[in-house]
Amino acid sequence: MNLSDLAPHYIRDIAPYQPGKPTSELARELGLNEVDIVKLASNENPLGVSPKALAAIQKALPELALYPDGNGFELKATISKSRGVATAQIVLGNGSNDILELAARTFLVPGDAAVYSQHAFAVYPLAVKAVGGLGIEVPAVNFGHDLEAMLVVITDKTKLVFVANPNNPTGTFIDAARMHDFLSKVPRGVIVVLDEAYTEYLPRELRNKTEHWLAEFPNLIISRTFSKAYGLAGLRVGYGLAHPDVIQLFNRVRQPFNVNQLAQVAAAAALDDDEFIQASFDTNTRGMTQITAAFKKMGLEFIPSFGNFVCVKVGDAGPIFQELLKQGVIVRPVASYGMPEYLRVSIGTESQNARFLEALTLALGR
Ligand SMILES: *Cc1c(COP(=O)(O)O)cnc(C)c1O
Repeated sequence: MNLSDLAPHYIRDIAPYQPGKPTSELARELGLNEVDIVKLASNENPLGVSPKALAAIQKALPELALYPDGNGFELKATISKSRGVATAQIVLGNGSNDILELAARTFLVPGDAAVYSQHAFAVYPLAVKAVGGLGIEVPAVNFGHDLEAMLVVITDKTKLVFVANPNNPTGTFIDAARMHDFLSKVPRGVIVVLDEAYTEYLPRELRNKTEHWLAEFPNLIISRTFSKAYGLAGLRVGYGLAHPDVIQLFNRVRQPFNVNQLAQVAAAAALDDDEFIQASFDTNTRGMTQITAAFKKMGLEFIPSFGNFVCVKVGDAGPIFQELLKQGVIVRPVASYGMPEYLRVSIGTESQNARFLEALTLALGR
């Protein structure tokens, strides 16, 4: 008997998510010190963890023998105050991936369809396929979502639509007017998951206050994360905002203690650390300019990005990725996203960016 035959075909068909290569692994392979390796592969915050979050974690350590608050009272209260939503509109997640999966597990049965864009975040097809859903991938336009085409493929089998704004890995952005217009055209019986993992990296004037749309669109779920600008990727915490009825469904499906205690206290502290968020934003803005200016000088095409990462066209990206690894620089190949000529690089500190650019120059033989 083949054990894999015990799983449904739709599980066997899933191509596993490929995470960025961990620094420790490359250090072992190259016989290098971890400190000499520059990892710009997973859109992590180069400034590390907010000092306020660190202090909150320290304070909570002695309580680790106890289960976390399964309702996340304090964190939800903090989010409610800062985002102007009711606590009944909030669900917490073990990373925002948890929210994306909750949406699929709550609303899809095998055979139901979910719509997402080509070159969009890899977790959407994973979450959909894991429950036997039918993933409908809509061709992108200029590497961004073709919202009109996404509307056209919606049928009465469609239960979910995923939109990443800004999108990862391409960094494209949909402005508030276009997003609102899209939401007003999606049938009310179709849930829209709006993934705003990078919203803190948008210039203030572009930041969509999408939480204000929840009353108008009861079929809207907004997902946010503490993994990127808040610097807490290792703790796994994010949140979803939605109609209270949707939140109640999520509360039935989610694990009772899906967000650990350290994550809860750290996220609550980080949410109010405006200084840290501003510093993260400023570092990203400067780094994006540093890297894209160098790309221009080198004559390299790139996709203008609204996130903390940028995709650059290098030709056959596999060998360039390997050359960078040999120099101790980890970036992300995006061939699995249908972009075999591109590498995605996360924006780091000024010196990390410089190391990357130096290594790239060498790898391209310039
Ligand atoms: C990084 C990222 C997330 C966040 O995932 P977490 O589970 O919160 O760490 C969500 N969506 C997109 C598009 C991302 O790039």
